[in-house]
Amino acid sequence: MKIEKIVEKFYQGLAEHKLYGRKCKECGAIEYPPRYACNTCGYHETEWVELSGKGKFHSMILPSTLNADPWNASLGTYGYGLIELEEGVMFNATVFGISKKKAKKLRPLLPLPVHPLFVEKDGVTVVFFELDEVEEG
Ligand SMILES: [Zn+2]
Repeated sequence: MKIEKIVEKFYQGLAEHKLYGRKCKECGAIEYPPRYACNTCGYHETEWVELSGKGKFHSMILPSTLNADPWNASLGTYGYGLIELEEGVMFNATVFGISKKKAKKLRPLLPLPVHPLFVEKDGVTVVFFELDEVEEG
């Protein structure tokens, strides 16, 4: 099954700390997380492309006490928001390196550079994002 193959290849990539998307053979748009068909033009054929993972963090939402994820919290302080990779794809992700205290300072500086953060969870590698080092003033 095509979809299962895509999921398998994506997770194999993560295990090697590589981020894969699918590039449309028709319009060149990149799908991330990868999908078999192009979301932009509807074309049915896409191909694997390794993404740099370099991106910009556009919006910052902090977890509230009610939706805080204890496993995430064990890795550090984090928030959520919209990420745009340099390849042009946009999606929402969890971003580490944001504390409540920092968020106030960081918000006016958005968009901020981020990079992928690969983490082992239950024997599988998952990907989050992390703010690049920001000079603390
Ligand atoms: Zn397309």
